[in-house]
Amino acid sequence: MATSTYTNRRILLASRPDGTPTTHNFRLEDGPAPEPSEGEVLLKILYLSLDPYMRWRMNAAKSYAKPVEVGDTMEGGTVAEVVRSRHPDFSEGDIVLSHSGWQKYAVSGGNGLRKLDPSQAPITTALGVLGMPGFTAYSGLLTIGQPKPGETVVVAAASGAVGSAVGQIARIKGARAVGIAGGADKCAFVRNELGFDAVIDHRTPDFAAQLASACPEGIDVYFENVGGRVWDAVFPLFNEFARIPVCGLIAQYNHGADGFPGPDRLPLVMRDILSKSLLVRGFIQREFVDQRPAFYREGSEWIASGSLRYREDVVDGIDNAPEAFIGLLDGRNFGKLIVRVATE
Ligand code: NDP
Repeated sequence: MATSTYTNRRILLASRPDGTPTTHNFRLEDGPAPEPSEGEVLLKILYLSLDPYMRWRMNAAKSYAKPVEVGDTMEGGTVAEVVRSRHPDFSEGDIVLSHSGWQKYAVSGGNGLRKLDPSQAPITTALGVLGMPGFTAYSGLLTIGQPKPGETVVVAAASGAVGSAVGQIARIKGARAVGIAGGADKCAFVRNELGFDAVIDHRTPDFAAQLASACPEGIDVYFENVGGRVWDAVFPLFNEFARIPVCGLIAQYNHGADGFPGPDRLPLVMRDILSKSLLVRGFIQREFVDQRPAFYREGSEWIASGSLRYREDVVDGIDNAPEAFIGLLDGRNFGKLIVRVATE
């Protein structure tokens, strides 16, 4: 492949983590950026999205998507500027959503690029509230959770990209939103800025008792983002016919193939799935791709009206991506985690 005058910097998967990733699992590599061929564009990455799913991609085992190979660039969603175009549909200066990974420059044939209009919304929102995480909340909650007015909807990681939207959309649909978050600052944000009806700190010793008091009429929808201890506290509170969209299990991602350590909960879970007629349904957001136009329309309207608010946690410089990503798996981010790779 021909090279351009731009210097690229990439972050590669250097080795597969055993448990919690460390910065040694990543390697930084500089080299010339590729030159676009006919029908291609050269993208300058402005923002990189860091998301929990990337932890799965670091493992050798295939999950719902292929792992990143050792020595390959870490993958990820990006917002980029077209700096050279040899593609009829894109001009220099266009801002696009792409999936270019942890690097400063990338070449694309145009497939999967979506043009963004910076006058409509801040371009970072395409990675968060108006992007994959926001859509995950929208599609999982409305299709599987189906909250009804007056019902109680519980969501953990409630200050984060997905959870913050879940609770607010539940409220838009007339349900009562109870958030679970880590620490006083996140809890204050969820209650006061996002307007959840109640919020509980999962780091407090009497977390399970506090959650039970915050849900006096039980739980009708539990949007599962976390698993582990949080699941244990939520599980006894399910009402008959509760719906449980299983979106993520972040508390388990660093625990390898054996899952989360602890007693076998399966017999009790199966008993309640049966006796309470629970609906437990896992999903990957792309399953609901046909709902994206409705999401962009409704999501934009809700943001404009102030009923859907969001917070972004922007880290400067691609060199800091590994550290920031490791922190995400431990709750150190506060809002949708994004790396500013270059200035707009
Ligand atoms: P967030 O922005 O919410 O960041 C992750 C948050 O998870 C942390 O800030 C922390 O919040 C919480 N967390 C981390 N580790 C633990 C732990 N051990 N125990 C309890 N909480 C923990 O991330 P996203 O909104 O992007 O993702 C939320 C979930 O949604 C993830 O599980 C992710 O994998 C899943 N997801 C699934 C998709 C799908 O298609 N099914 C698509 C996108 C995301 P706090 O400090 O408040 O505990």
